Order: sequence, then structure tokens, then C-alpha cells
Amino acid sequence: MKIGFIGLGNMGGPMAANLAKAGHEVTGFDTAGVTIDGVASADSAKAAASGAEVVITMLPNGQILRTVASEVIPAMDKGAVLLDCSTVDVDSARAVAQQANDAGLSALDAPVSGGVGGAEGGTLTFMVGGDQAGFDTARPLFDIMGQKAVHCGPSGNGQAAKICNNMILGATMIVTCEAFALADKLGLDRQAMYDVVSTSSGQSWSMTTYCPAPGVGPQSPADNGYKPGFAADLMLKDLRLAQEAAASADADTPLGEAAMKLYAKFVEEEDGQGRDFSAMLPRFEKRGYS
Ligand code: NAD
Repeated sequence: MKIGFIGLGNMGGPMAANLAKAGHEVTGFDTAGVTIDGVASADSAKAAASGAEVVITMLPNGQILRTVASEVIPAMDKGAVLLDCSTVDVDSARAVAQQANDAGLSALDAPVSGGVGGAEGGTLTFMVGGDQAGFDTARPLFDIMGQKAVHCGPSGNGQAAKICNNMILGATMIVTCEAFALADKLGLDRQAMYDVVSTSSGQSWSMTTYCPAPGVGPQSPADNGYKPGFAADLMLKDLRLAQEAAASADADTPLGEAAMKLYAKFVEEEDGQGRDFSAMLPRFEKRGYS
């Protein structure tokens, strides 16, 4: 397939490389001038998109996505697919899809989970919103870049699934860390706490797969000095998107809001910047009841 790839950062770079390695003809563009082995370099987003059957974007936020989409949509052939894999607000995803559909293109919003390791290893999970025809065209590309793609419904629903998932993740990570810090103060051994909770009703992915306590459970960023992993500032981005969506859809999400405020404090006022999101545990260890 002829693919345009715009945004060759930490995630987009390895995703584009995997598509090229699988034999697709990939032309990339990044404002930072990044080049990727096996990927031809274009000198603008428009040039990367012209003549492509699928144009993939992997960009920092919804505003940049809207700007890039306005540039590439008029350059794309009718029937081509605009596939955005960035994490952006639901409103931007839906606006860009509408613009693409009006121009005779298929549009998919397909944010990912799995992080840089998943992008490099081709093991990402895609949560996809958009029409079935576009999904069917993109399917072989999802299979190369990832291990799972779930079609969640019409445009915007991929972003909706992503922020709902990450709102649950942020809140459960916080409460798991709180519980470890409380257990410490009650004299309960961390291994015993893990053994009970990981097989009881308090269990979650945060406990069993990504345990925030070093030396307990499977290997996780806690065992590597809380080096990310999934950085606290990226969790904050997703929690803010969840709150924006909640406000726009008039949904009551008090724990999502509390999680967003706590990660904002951690990243912007404390030492959370650049640390894994599970570093909430050492944060709680240092604090008392107030
Ligand atoms: P990144 O900052 O490493 O990459 C973004 C790239 O986009 C940069 O190289 C930047 O130069 C480029 N860019 C910015 N504006 C551009 C423009 N107008 N035209 C072309 N290129 C432009 O970020 P990343 O970590 O690769 O994340 C990309 C997206 O994936 C984000 O939306 C992020 O939330 C999401 N995401 C990241 C992770 C992760 O672990 N890094 C996990 C899941 C989802």
C-alpha cells in the first residue's frame, strides 16, 4: 500500500518503520525533520499525503491534528483513508472526520495503548472510530503495527474508548498506590498485600500487571526507579481530555476529576514530571493524613 505518515516522533517513528519493514511504500513528514530507515522523506505534510491510499497521523494534540488535516485532506484522492492514531479530544476527532468525509474520504480515529514499547514491537492496541469500509482498508496496517484493533463505532468513538479506559486506569492506579501506603502504615507486608489483592475483588491491571510497589508482582517501572513506562504527564493529558469530554457531554465524573487534579499537582508542582505514572506510590509514602 502507498502510505503517507505524518508525525514521526516516539510513537510514529517506529510505527512507520514497521509498516516499511512489512513491505509498504511509506513516505513520512515531521516538522522536526526526523528521518526513519526505510521511510522516504517528504518536505511537507501535503507532499507525504499526495497519492497515498492511507494517510496516518501521529501528532501531539487536537489543534495540531486540525491544522495538518486541513492541509492534507485537499491533497488526498477520493476514497483514500485518513487514519489518525494520536490521542486527541473527541470534538477534534469528530470535526476532522467530518471534514474528511465531506471531501469523499474515509476517516478513522484510532488512538493506541501500548506505549513506545508497543509501537516498536508492533503490539499496540487500536481503539477505532469511523466507517466500516475505512476500518476494513486499514485492518492489514493495524495487524502490522499492533496485535488488536477494536472497532468501537462511528467517528470519535475510538477517542471516547481511550479516555474512558485511561480515566479508569488513572483512578485505579492512584487508589492502588494509596492502599499500599496505607498498608505500610498499618504494618501489612507489601507482598502479602499483593498476594491478597491480586486474587481478590480489589484487583486491577494497576495491581496485577503494573504493580507500583518495587520487588512485588511482575516486572514494572517500579522496578526500574519509576522510569516510564507510561509517563505521569501523558496520564495527565488523557485525564484532561476525559474532563473536557465530560464537560462537553454533561457527564458527572467526580473520581476522574479528582484523578486529573492529583496528577496535575504531581506533574506541575511536585516531582512527577518525567516519572512513570505509578510513582504516585513514593509520593503517598512521604505524606500523612490531613
Ligand atoms: P512525540 O512528541 O514524540 O511525537 C510527535 C511528533 O509530531 C514530533 O516528532 C513532532 O515534531 C511532530 N509534529 C508536531 N507538529 C507537527 C506538524 N504540524 N506536522 C508534522 N509533524 C508534527 O509524541 P509521541 O509520544 O510520539 O505521541 C504521539 C501521540 O501518541 C500523542 O497524541 C500521544 O498522546 C499519543 N500516545 C503516546 C504514547 C506514548 O507512550 N508516547 C502512548 C499512547 C498514545
